[in-house]
Amino acid sequence: MAEPLFRRVALIGIGLIGSSLARVLRRDSPETHIVACARRAETLEAVRRLKIADETTDDPAAAVADADLVVIATPLSAYAEIAAKIASALADGAIVTDVGSVKEAAIRDLMPAIRDGVHLVPGHPVAGTEHSGPESGFAELFDDRWCILTPPPGTDPSAIAKITALWQLAKMKVVTMPAEHHDRVLAVTSHLPHLIAYTIVGTATALGDDLRSEVIAYSAGGFRDFTRIAASDPVMWRDIFMKNREAVLDVLQRFSEDLTALQRAIRRGEGEVLEDWFIRTRAIRRSVIEAKQA
Ligand code: NAP
Repeated sequence: MAEPLFRRVALIGIGLIGSSLARVLRRDSPETHIVACARRAETLEAVRRLKIADETTDDPAAAVADADLVVIATPLSAYAEIAAKIASALADGAIVTDVGSVKEAAIRDLMPAIRDGVHLVPGHPVAGTEHSGPESGFAELFDDRWCILTPPPGTDPSAIAKITALWQLAKMKVVTMPAEHHDRVLAVTSHLPHLIAYTIVGTATALGDDLRSEVIAYSAGGFRDFTRIAASDPVMWRDIFMKNREAVLDVLQRFSEDLTALQRAIRRGEGEVLEDWFIRTRAIRRSVIEAKQA
């Protein structure tokens, strides 16, 4: 039998993303030994019940010992502490990767653990749901989605190739770009839309009781789609805004200016301004569908 891509994989964090990757490895690389690490006993108990790992531990240093791949799949705020815990336990030649939604901060927080002979290949599988925890994962989560790798300059090409192969196993399309560029792109495509959803749903819940119950009853008018996004994990999204502050503030400034322009068009009765705007946005929707990202 051919050598597996990775002999021993440590998954630090085994929620939606970590457990989905564990399921991919179970499906496509059954020889790989999987060690799952989380903090809470209930999480590790769920992992054993689901049989998605060979070993479980709450100790990150024990998890990474002898692993040829370490995947950090916790909220971003845990990275620095985990890096400190695993630094001296990482095996020579080990590849460390992550799945975090902000990449410059991920590199900054993980880099202290990366000594000579250990490789850091940060990644972001751009796939998810509003659910959390190991029960919510599934191997098909990644199918046909993009995975963005942001290796720092000088990263060993063979380590990048192995992480590319890992996400291709998960049926992802893999692309490489600088971390700073990733963070600016995702601020527009993901972070701003989430912030808008959190705002709209928050505004609606602050309305008077009568109006609030009607907003929920008639939510299919558009509000419903925002409630799904605004149900995303509070800790994960707190961390994203704390860690991608500059890029988010920048795009938020642009957004506020555009919102003010639309507000002015409504106030002045300039229907053609609105219509032109909506024609342009409809074309964007068509491009998204054509790119199979709908
Ligand atoms: P999740 O379902 O909430 O799972 C988080 C996991 O991290 C849990 O197993 C949790 O263990 C563990 N954890 C938290 N703090 C830890 C610590 N200090 N030490 C060890 N384990 C710890 O989260 P997720 O949705 O998979 O997200 C994980 C990462 O993926 C985040 O960085 C996020 O930015 C990124 N991401 C998420 C999505 C998405 O849509 N959800 C998409 C792409 C990327 P306990 O249960 O024991 O607390």
